[in-house]
Parts: sequence; structure tokens; C-alpha cells
Amino acid sequence: THFGYETVTESEKRERVAGVFTSVAESYDRMNDLMSFGWHRVWKDHFVASLNPGFSPLTAGPDPRGPQHILDIAGGTGDIAFRMLHTAHVLNANPAVRVTISDINRAMLTVGKQRSTTLPASQQAALSFVEANAENLSQTRPLHPYPSPLEPTSTDAHGRQEQAFFDPATATSSIPSNSVDLYTVAFGIRNFSNIPAALREAHRVLKPGGVFACLEFSKADRFPLFNAVYKEWSFRAIPLIGQLVAADRDSYQYLVESIERFPSQRDFRDMIVDAGFVVAGEGYEDLTGGVAAIHKGMKP
Ligand code: SAM
Repeated sequence: THFGYETVTESEKRERVAGVFTSVAESYDRMNDLMSFGWHRVWKDHFVASLNPGFSPLTAGPDPRGPQHILDIAGGTGDIAFRMLHTAHVLNANPAVRVTISDINRAMLTVGKQRSTTLPASQQAALSFVEANAENLSQTRPLHPYPSPLEPTSTDAHGRQEQAFFDPATATSSIPSNSVDLYTVAFGIRNFSNIPAALREAHRVLKPGGVFACLEFSKADRFPLFNAVYKEWSFRAIPLIGQLVAADRDSYQYLVESIERFPSQRDFRDMIVDAGFVVAGEGYEDLTGGVAAIHKGMKP
């Protein structure tokens, strides 16, 4: 009936409007699950387990070398940082590990901070939040209340904020050179406009012996049939899901294209080496047939 039809469209519309007004990060977290069939959780768990923060091979227990500082770049809503803290503090019984979550987007950080309130108090105390562009870690600010008068005037398709967002008058502190033990970046580096600059900054802030670790979408082209199915899924289904669930087709179209544009495993490995890191073996590990990959490098 006409009435029935209207009821459906109204509830659809409510959902859409709710989608639009739901915070960036809430739809972001749900979309991750939908688009990757939950695989992103498996990849993140594996990424963190492979880094085993707080563990020392010397003692087969907590690292006796003292406090460890992990910098989670493009840390968004905290998925990597929270796993790092859990592994270090709980599994490796090493409460000396602390994590800084850094992101260019204050809305993502704010949701991350909100999510962190459910962590044990000791883990919350080991966590800090800073706003920074990964390409310039000499200009960082502690997380500001949101919203604030410094709200950026424009945001690109992926929620990245304009450089004008950084008011030089308040952009106070710099992440010092040679101060970080472990630099992580998960599903973030693909969005940076100047990846070599971000890699140079990673190299600058890491201590000698410190590790750069990146989890990112990659090329699944080793298995042609699997790759064909994956491409169909990416280019057809993901923008559609984005449209239906987040009422934002363009952002998810951008997401798929940014994955396509990102360099292959080997080319990205070469960029890491060019930035001054040394890599072991091939320098990367494929996950799920290369849909995602982990790259690691050490600052000599
Ligand atoms: N690491 C989190 C995770 O795995 O769930 C968040 C990943 S999210 C797909 C990408 C994040 O990169 C966003 O929070 C975005 O604000 C951030 N980002 C994009 N460009 C950035 C830049 N130039 N510097 C720092 N963060 C950036």
C-alpha cells in the first residue's frame, strides 16, 4: 500500500540520516567488519602478535631494558594501540610499555579516547593522544577537546584535514629524534600524500635499533582467480555497501581506488629501504593472499 511504502522509506531515511550523523569512527569500525568480513581483526591481531611488544628475547619475559615507547601513527580509533597495550601489559606482564596514538583527524582520536575509557586504569595511564600529520612529526599537539574553534574548514574524501588545521601558534611540541622504540602504522600510510616524507619522519623519531612496522592493503595478484573475485568485490560491492550503510559512496569509492594506487609489496619495501631502514629477507609478509601485507624495517 501507499502507507506501507512510505513507512519503509521513512525508516530507511532515518537510518541514512543516522548514518550521516553517526561519528566518522563509528561507521568506520562497522564498515571495516562489513568490507573485510571481519578479516581486519585477524590481520591486526597477527600484526601485534608478530611484534610482541614488551617481550624480551633475552629473558623470555618482560623486557629488562626499561620503558618502551610505541608510536601508533594514523592510530585512528585505537585498534592497534589497545592491542599493543594488552599484549605488553597483560600477556607479557610488562607495564613499562607506553603507547602514543597519533592521528591527523581529531574526530577519530576523540572516539579512540572515548573507547579507551573501558581499558584498565593502568593501560589508560600508559596511553596518550596527539594530533599530528605523519609527514611532519615536529608539529604535534595534544588532543584538543572536540569540537574546538580550530575546527578545520575542509576535509577531503577520506576525512583527512587540511594543513591549515595546524595553527602554528598552538602546534607546540615535536616528537624528538631517536625517541621511539616501535613505530606502527595500520591502514594509514596509503592515505598520506607524501609517503617518502612520512618514512623519513619514522626514521628520524625511531631510536637506532627501533622498528618500523606497517600493516596495509596490498596486491593479491599472486593467485589470479582469487584476485579476480577480490577485485569484483572491491570495485562493485564496497562502494555499494558504503552507500547503503554509511550513506557515503564517494568515500568508499576513494578507499578502493587508494588501495589500487598503493605500490606493490616490493615497491613499497624498496621505499622503506630508500628511507634508510634495513629489512630482513623479503621485508614483507603477505596476509590472506596479499589482500593485506606487513612490512617491517629496522633503523640501523
Ligand atoms: N590505524 C587505525 C586502524 O587500523 O583501525 C586507523 C586506520 S584509518 C583507515 C586511517 C587513518 O589515517 C585515519 O584515522 C586518518 O585520519 C589517518 N590519516 C590520514 N592521513 C594522515 C596523515 N597524513 N597523518 C596522520 N594520520 C593520517
